[in-house]
Amino acid sequence: MCSWKITLVPNSRHAFTRKQKEEQGRYTSRDHTSRSKQALIRQLHSLLLVIVTKGILTIVSRLEWSAATPRNREALSSPAQRVIIHHTALANYTNQKQCMDHLLSIQRLHMKDRDFDDIGYNFLVGADGTVYEGRGWGVVGAHTKGYNHDSLGIAFMGNFNNDAPSKEAISSVKQLLHSGVFQGFLQSQFDLFGHKDLGNTECPGKKLYTALPQLRTTR
Ligand SMILES: [Zn+2]
Repeated sequence: MCSWKITLVPNSRHAFTRKQKEEQGRYTSRDHTSRSKQALIRQLHSLLLVIVTKGILTIVSRLEWSAATPRNREALSSPAQRVIIHHTALANYTNQKQCMDHLLSIQRLHMKDRDFDDIGYNFLVGADGTVYEGRGWGVVGAHTKGYNHDSLGIAFMGNFNNDAPSKEAISSVKQLLHSGVFQGFLQSQFDLFGHKDLGNTECPGKKLYTALPQLRTTR
């Protein structure tokens, strides 16, 4: 098994107030409210993502890629202790429009064929470094059997058995991890794994697995 203990020190410039954290907690808790309220919550959640990452990282919200409403959302009971890296093992698109279409097909695959409540990953990243909101922060994912309740699942879009991940995608994921620590959704000391460290799979592909040490560094 190969894992790294990573320490990211929250930056006070980005640190959220207690009230804001409580509000974020509400957005990610189990939600049985009306559709319109759910839509408002998603909009506010997306707005928070933009505020936190403005000028640093491009995150395409669920609203922007027209995600279907999840059947259920279960909140993580505490900040994630692990980050688990995956690849989608599908086509590698650079164009945002193609990526967004692709996200819809991944969500359909996960919800219809695999009977998941939503797209399985918390976030996905394209080759151009654009990050796409999957289940988002603080939500239990469906990506690594036995480890979904204390982790954050991030998928690189593409097949990385033969192709190396782009510098842009690596850089964006590092920024996303910083953002997660700043917002209190990820513990400042978290373990980073490739999916294959925790399950019988080739995911995230040989070349991406080899590149994982690049996510260790905090610069
Ligand atoms: Zn995987």
